[in-house]
Amino acid sequence: MRVGIFGGTFDPIHCGHLVLAEQCREQCELDEVWFVPAALPPHKLNASITSAKTRCEMIELAIAGNPAFRLSTIELDRSGPSFTVTTLEQLHTDQASHELFLLIGADSLKDLPLWREPSRILQLATVVAVNRGDRPLPDRMELRAVIGPEVDQRIVTVNMPGIDISATDIRGRVQARRSIRYLVPRGVEMYLQERGLFRTRDSGVSE
Ligand code: ATP
Repeated sequence: MRVGIFGGTFDPIHCGHLVLAEQCREQCELDEVWFVPAALPPHKLNASITSAKTRCEMIELAIAGNPAFRLSTIELDRSGPSFTVTTLEQLHTDQASHELFLLIGADSLKDLPLWREPSRILQLATVVAVNRGDRPLPDRMELRAVIGPEVDQRIVTVNMPGIDISATDIRGRVQARRSIRYLVPRGVEMYLQERGLFRTRDSGVSE
C-alpha cells in the first residue's frame, strides 16, 4: 500500500491541509494519507499548543467521510519531541509492507538538510514537496550538495493551488471574532464555536 505521511501541529487543521493531502493522494496515486499530529514539534518547543486530544478530535471531524484519510497518533503515543526520522523508522518497522511518502510544503524542503538524519529520511520515504501556487521551488543543487545524489530519485514535486491559510491566521480570526467559514471544514468550525476555543489568547493551551 502507498501511504502518504502528513505531519504537522494541526492547531487547528484547516482547508489548506486538506487540499494538500488530497492533491498528493491524487497526483502520487496514494492509497491512504495519514495525518500525524506532532506532540512537541522540535521548532515549536516553547509555543503553547492545544491539547493533543482536541487537535485529534478536530482532525477526525475534518477527515470524516474520506475513506483515504486517516489519523495516526504515532507521535502522540511516544514521549519526547517528534523527529520525522523516528516516526518513519517506526512506521517502516511496524508496517513493513507499506511504501511511505512524506508530504511536506515545498518551502520546508530547503530546511531538510537541517532535519535529523536527512539521508535516512530519504531512504525510508519518498519526499513529496508540495508547491503551493507559483512559489519558486528551492534549489536542488544545494540539497544535492548537502544530502547527496539520492535527492534526485527520492524527492518528487506536487503542485496545488495556493491557498493562503494558516492555523495562526485561523486562531487570530477566532480571537478577533471574525469568520472562519470555508477556511476550515464545517465540523471544525462548529467544534471551535461550541468549545469557545481560541477566543482568548490562552484558551487553546495544552493540558
Ligand atoms: P501555524 O500557522 O500554527 O504554524 P500551519 O497552518 O502552518 O500552522 P502546520 O500544522 O504547522 O500548519 O502545518 C503542517 C503542514 O501543512 C506543513 O508542511 C505546512 O507547510 C502545510 N501547510 C500549512 N498551511 C498550508 C496551506 N495553506 N496550504 C498548503 N499547505 C499548508
